[in-house]
Amino acid sequence: MILDIEKLNLPGVPEERPLIIAGPCSAETEEQVLTTARDLAARGFKIFRAGIWKPRTRPGAFEGIGEVGLPWLKKVKEETGMLIATEVATGKHVYEALKHGVDILWVGARSSANPFTVQEIADALKGVDVPVFVKNPVNPDLDLWIGALERINQAGIRRLGAIHRGFSTYDKKIYRNMPQWHIPIELRSRIPGLPVLCDPSHIGGKSELIASISQQALDLNFEGLIIESHCTPTKAWSDASQQITPEILDYIVSKLVLREVGSTTESLNDLRRQIDNLDNELLEVLAKRMRVAREIGQYKKENNITVLQTARYDEILTDRIKHGNALGLGAEFMSKLLKGIHEESVRQQVEIMNK
Ligand code: PEP
Ligand code: MN
Repeated sequence: MILDIEKLNLPGVPEERPLIIAGPCSAETEEQVLTTARDLAARGFKIFRAGIWKPRTRPGAFEGIGEVGLPWLKKVKEETGMLIATEVATGKHVYEALKHGVDILWVGARSSANPFTVQEIADALKGVDVPVFVKNPVNPDLDLWIGALERINQAGIRRLGAIHRGFSTYDKKIYRNMPQWHIPIELRSRIPGLPVLCDPSHIGGKSELIASISQQALDLNFEGLIIESHCTPTKAWSDASQQITPEILDYIVSKLVLREVGSTTESLNDLRRQIDNLDNELLEVLAKRMRVAREIGQYKKENNITVLQTARYDEILTDRIKHGNALGLGAEFMSKLLKGIHEESVRQQVEIMNK
């Protein structure tokens, strides 16, 4: 698929990797916005982000300061020379943001999951030349993500990019949003030339994970990063646990390693890193399966049922081998794999029974 895109061409921002957008999750007060921006600008960061309208998962959470925050962003731009970026979720947001000189817009994950919302934003963008980033939808659906990019592109926006912020999951053990790296990787192969940034703040949900996720994104050749940074993270009105001070951000960025791309060994490394990521995902899924198996073990214990249920095991074998075959996996491999998984499940259930 080819979108009609051109370079982002951001005035005053050097065209080198990684492109970095930094700033608080939300604009809270004029002082918080300006204090954070001044510190970021002094450290050489060129693009300031701040959410003005915040679509929150649950009502009652801070839903953004709204339009009154836009003049604060304008002040950031005038005072520091940084470009300013914010999220838009309606046609009116687009209008208001542009009126206040916002340089870069992005469509949030909850909006990009809804084609009506994306279309409304796209319609408001007709005839405007502004760079727009589209975050992946909350659900892991590559076509929905591409559809959102197409709608914005068809409105005439050619300075287009994507942001990978991970995918919602019920199981928030390690990540707030599962990275599922293969999805942005496939996005890039389907739309060559599309700049893709990674948002380690929303993927990790915790400040400790930002450095490693950022490095992983650079190793996978992402164009850049969008990272939440706040002058006083512990006092942030939204996403406090994932925000870092400009000082820590600066330190993390200074430690990032940029590996050269292009040579054959590099593309081999790229493929190997994809394998590493897929293996990690496999392990996480396996661990999740074992947790469910242990819950079943608990149930069997409370209800006096034996661990081994032969009929159920045969059913699983037949079904999974068939499914595996359809996916191009050999029957012998499938049965060995399932046997190994089953053995470990039984071992874990027996452990629970004997507790
Ligand atoms: C954000 O960037 O602050 C935000 C709300 O992110 P997302 O749309 O990825 O949840
Ligand atoms: Mn946030």
